[in-house]
Amino acid sequence: MTIPPAILWFRNDLRLSDHAALRAAMETGRPVLPLFILDDAAAGQWSPGGASRWWLHRSLTALQRSLEQRGSHLTLRRGDSLTIIATLAAGGAEVFTGGSPDPWARRLDKSVSDALPGRVHRMRTATLFHPDSILTKTGGPYSVYTPFANACLALGGPRQPDSAPGTIPAVPARDLATIPSDRLEDWNLLPTKPDWAAGLRETWEPGETGAMDRADSFLTHGLSGYADARDRPAGDGTSMLSPHLHFGEISAAQLWHKALVRPAGKGRDIFIKELLWREFCANLLWHNQGLPESPLKPEFARMPWRDDRPALAAWQKGQTGVPVVDAGMRQLWQTGWMHNRVRMIVASFLIKHLMIPWQDGEAWFWDTLVDADLASNAGNWQWVAGCGADAAPYFRIFNPVLQGEKFDPQGDYVRGFVPELARLDARHIHAPWQAPPDALARAGVTLGKSYPKPIVDLAAGRARALDAYAEIRRNA
Ligand SMILES: Cc1cc2nc3c(=O)[nH]c(=O)nc-3n(C[C@H](O)[C@H](O)[C@H](O)COP(=O)(O)OP(=O)(O)OC[C@H]3O[C@@H](n4cnc5c(N)ncnc54)[C@H](O)[C@@H]3O)c2cc1C
Repeated sequence: MTIPPAILWFRNDLRLSDHAALRAAMETGRPVLPLFILDDAAAGQWSPGGASRWWLHRSLTALQRSLEQRGSHLTLRRGDSLTIIATLAAGGAEVFTGGSPDPWARRLDKSVSDALPGRVHRMRTATLFHPDSILTKTGGPYSVYTPFANACLALGGPRQPDSAPGTIPAVPARDLATIPSDRLEDWNLLPTKPDWAAGLRETWEPGETGAMDRADSFLTHGLSGYADARDRPAGDGTSMLSPHLHFGEISAAQLWHKALVRPAGKGRDIFIKELLWREFCANLLWHNQGLPESPLKPEFARMPWRDDRPALAAWQKGQTGVPVVDAGMRQLWQTGWMHNRVRMIVASFLIKHLMIPWQDGEAWFWDTLVDADLASNAGNWQWVAGCGADAAPYFRIFNPVLQGEKFDPQGDYVRGFVPELARLDARHIHAPWQAPPDALARAGVTLGKSYPKPIVDLAAGRARALDAYAEIRRNA
C-alpha cells in the first residue's frame, strides 16, 4: 500500500459521531481503513445470538451507507481477527479500536496488541468512564450500585461528545482494490426459513440515524413522564434505546448530554441513573470476568437447581399459564425486546418458582434479545437470582399475579401478547385459574385447552425456593 493506513476496527461502536477511535485515526493524517470482523470462534459461546445477528446485519448496512456518504468504505471480513488484522497491518498500519469488558474481547485485544506492539490504540467508545477509573477509596472495584453511581456523578459526567466528520480520508482506490472484503449478504445473518424477524422489522430501525431519531423522540416526548411511565409495560414509557446502545449506534455520553439539556426533573434524574446501571454492569464484568457463567457469591453454586426441560420450554414459548410471564416471553419472541419490569418478573419466575438455573434464562435471552449484552444480561440475571454483587435479597420472590395487577392493572399488556385472554376482564386476567367458570366462559377461555393451566403452583414454588435459599444461607 502506498501509505500505511490507520485501520479503524469497529466493535460495538457502529456509529460515526462521538467515536474516539475514528477521531484518533483521522488525527494521524493517514487514510482511514474502516473494518468490521465477524469472529464467531473468538467469541465462542458468546458469539451473537439470532436476534443480535439480525440487528448486526441491519446496523452494518446503515454504517456502510454512512461511510460511503463520506467518501469511505467499510471492509467486512469473517474469520480470525488476529490473522486478519496482522495481515492488513503488515505494511506498518496503525490500529484504532474501542474497548469492551467482554472476556473474549479483552483476550483478543491483548493478543492483537502483543502481535503489533505500540501500534494498537484502544479508545473508550462504549462506556461513559473507563472501568479502572471508578474505584473505591481503597482502590478496589465497587460491588454496590449506589456508591458506584455516586462516584460517577461526582466526576461531573462524561466528556462532551463530538459530531460525525463530514468526510473521512479514504484508502486510495488502487490500494483498496487489493484488500479483500466479504459481501454482508454472504454472512447469512438474517433468518431465512422460518423467517421469524417480521416483528423485529416492524419494531426497529437499526443504525445511527434510527438511534438518534429514537433518542430525540423519547427525550422530547417521554423523558418528563419517565419516572411514572417506566414501570408500566403496556405503554411505551421507556426509551427502547438498549439495542442502539449495545451496538454503539449512539453512545451513552451522547445520551447523557442530550438528556442534560432537557428540563430538570425526576424523569431526567432516573434516566441518567439507568445509564449508570448499564455502566455498573460493564464495570462488574470488567472486574469479574466469570460473571456470565458463575455466581459472584460462590455458595450459590450449590443451589439445588432442577433439570426440567419441559418447564424451560414452556417458559421460552410463553406457555406457562401465568399470563404476565407468558406476555413477556412472547413480547421477547415477537419483538426481540422485553420491558424491564417484565424481565424481572419472568427471570424471578424461572429461577425461583421453577428453580431452573439462571444461566439457562441468560442463554435464552442471549439468543432472542436484540439488546443482548454480556455485562447487562449476566449482571441482571445474577441480581434477580440473588447471587450477584449487589443482589436482590434472597427472599424477594416476585409474585407474578401481584406484579401483573400492580403494573398492568387493566391487563392491556397481557391482552396485547396473549390474545387467548383478550376478552377476560381486568379482575381475572392475571390469575385466570382463579376466575369463576362463567367469567372464563364469557371470555371464551378453556383452561388447559385454549390457554394452559399454570405449570407450577405459585405458593408451593415460592415455599420450595425459600427453603432452598435459606439452606444456602445457612451453609454459607
Ligand atoms: C434478567 C434481565 C436481563 C437483562 N438483559 C439485558 C441485556 O442483555 N441488555 C441490556 O441492555 N439490558 C438488559 N437488561 C436491563 C434492562 O431490562 C434493559 O436495559 C431495558 O429494559 C432496556 O429498555 P430501555 O432501553 O427502554 O430502557 P430505559 O428505561 O429507557 O433505560 C435507558 C437505558 O439504561 C440502561 N438500563 C436500564 N436499566 C438497566 C439495567 N437494569 N441494567 C443495565 N442497564 C440498564 C439501558 O442501556 C437502557 O437502554 C436486563 C434486565 C433483566 C432483569
